[in-house]
Amino acid sequence: MSEATLETHSFQAEIKQLLDLVVHSLYTDREIFLRELISNASDSMEKLRHLQGTEKDIHDAELPLEIHITTDKEAKTLTIADHGIGMTRGELVENLGTIAHSGTKAFLTAMKESGNSPANMIGQFGVGFYSAFMVASEVQVHTRSWRENGEDLVWTSDGTSGYSIEEDKDLQRGVKIVLKLKEEHEEFSDEARVKHLIERYSNFVGFPILLNGERINQVEALWLKNKSDVTEEEYKAFYEFACHAYNDPAYRLHFAADAPIAINALIFVPDENMERLGMQKTEPAVALYCKKVLIDPSPKGLLPEWMRFLKGVIDSADIPLNISRETMQDSALVRKLGSVISKRVIKMFEKEAEADPEKFQAFYRKFERFFKEGVATDYPNRDALAKLLRFESSMTEDGKLSGFADYLARAKDGQDKIYFLVGPSRTQLESSPYVEAFKARGLEVVYFTDAIDEYVIESLGEFDGKKLVSISHAGVELEDNEAEGDALGAEETEQLCAFLKDNLGERVTTVASGKRLVDSPIIALVPQDGMTPQMRRMMKAMDENFEDEVKVELEINPRHPLVKKLAEAKDKDPELAKLVASQLLDNALISAGLLDDARDTVKRMNALMEKAMG
Ligand code: ADP
Repeated sequence: MSEATLETHSFQAEIKQLLDLVVHSLYTDREIFLRELISNASDSMEKLRHLQGTEKDIHDAELPLEIHITTDKEAKTLTIADHGIGMTRGELVENLGTIAHSGTKAFLTAMKESGNSPANMIGQFGVGFYSAFMVASEVQVHTRSWRENGEDLVWTSDGTSGYSIEEDKDLQRGVKIVLKLKEEHEEFSDEARVKHLIERYSNFVGFPILLNGERINQVEALWLKNKSDVTEEEYKAFYEFACHAYNDPAYRLHFAADAPIAINALIFVPDENMERLGMQKTEPAVALYCKKVLIDPSPKGLLPEWMRFLKGVIDSADIPLNISRETMQDSALVRKLGSVISKRVIKMFEKEAEADPEKFQAFYRKFERFFKEGVATDYPNRDALAKLLRFESSMTEDGKLSGFADYLARAKDGQDKIYFLVGPSRTQLESSPYVEAFKARGLEVVYFTDAIDEYVIESLGEFDGKKLVSISHAGVELEDNEAEGDALGAEETEQLCAFLKDNLGERVTTVASGKRLVDSPIIALVPQDGMTPQMRRMMKAMDENFEDEVKVELEINPRHPLVKKLAEAKDKDPELAKLVASQLLDNALISAGLLDDARDTVKRMNALMEKAMG
């Protein structure tokens, strides 16, 4: 290694930040670095196995695909070597000096803010290699690429500001990582300690792992075994290994089928939703295998996109080994596979939700966005998925969720609709005038409080043949409710409606007396073809110049004292009556979330108060 070949580089700013965090903030779980390095070695050999199918010229082609780990107590080093694809000079710079993932910044902030176990997050975000610096004061990466024109190189760094790359010699294909252990982490040069770690974390690596020459792991495809032959500990270990997880999964699905396609699947549902924590969109992580050979670790289009939070393995002996990622999505077989499995997954959720509703509720709160996305986008599974939607309603306790099936079980005989209202929070919906009449008649109203709910419900349309109806829309018929006090006479009501229509102008299409209201004098309804307040808000958020004329139908409550007084006032004191009428309209628009500009409202309020005080 001559001085002349030495190249020095600085780490990209994000890497420095990352290293700082990894080295100084992650005090617990330092031992996971070994799992990360072994997993990189294994990935690299998977890649090599793929190349063997397509490339003729692979350097050192005959080398066995094994991982060799050696401990040296004297020298205080730990070495992890593989015969994978290795790296060229360019790849060293690209892979070990920069972070390509756009989510790194999000990772950094989320790490600082969330109470999540760092170990759990490291694997999810591909910062695996850098975890070596948690225990090493210096890391050397000796590498020879699989390419015939590759070089023997060594990358060296102390993990602070940068690294160097020098020529090396006599290397075999692959990567050999030498960790010079920090004094306080010398334990990782102890054979027994390292053996224990391999057994714990890497038992399921698909390549032999040898520690100081002795074979450690059992290469085992758990998903091909019979359910009854797998212990809870094995499942847990597999989940930790294959899914880079440290905590228990929320749910698990392990099944085998022969028809219509041969399938062995072992799927885990994690207990945390990384997207919810502000991370980038999760990549599909249910790997596709054919008879234990990995086809694609992250197959796009195999399962519906909303299922991207699932982890695990699908193995199908019917999938051609040489299927490429490009042709996969066009393959009828793969589509069939995806459809069979997604149905099983949804069934599993249904069963679990029934078996332990509270657990499902807690899970649902973290993952609801996925289920809603599914309802809106996964047409073949829409109806099955709708059964999994959960919400609060006028009949649920605060904080308790219910589903449409339960809603229908509670519904009155002959009720052929499911009523809902969309708004920012339960408290607001609860006090909204729209809900009054439904409550008074014992009709349950579903409360939707998520910004995307409206869109989701619109695309769903109905549940079990019952139409989903927004109670803020006009055209909802309710039975008369007699116990609601003396009403204004028919003729007076008609005159009052005409007076209001004449005086309120363009914003009001019709004024009628109605049965919805109990405690409020007036309500604004969006015409059946009109845009709801939530849609308007969304349009405005997307386009600041968005403008539309708000047009509503007014419904007055002929039993309300204010309405009765107004009917008198329109003849006795028309000026006051006009002011009150305009104010009532604004009040109704405010309740509906449709008042954009409150300047006139305030002026009018002042005028009214002046009058009231004489
Ligand atoms: P990740 O493995 O999640 O991509 P890492 O930080 O662990 O992130 O590794 C960064 C990159 O370095 C990998 O994507 C890979 O390209 C390369 N790399 C790491 N270890 C090896 C190895 N043993 N053999 C070949 N390439 C490797």
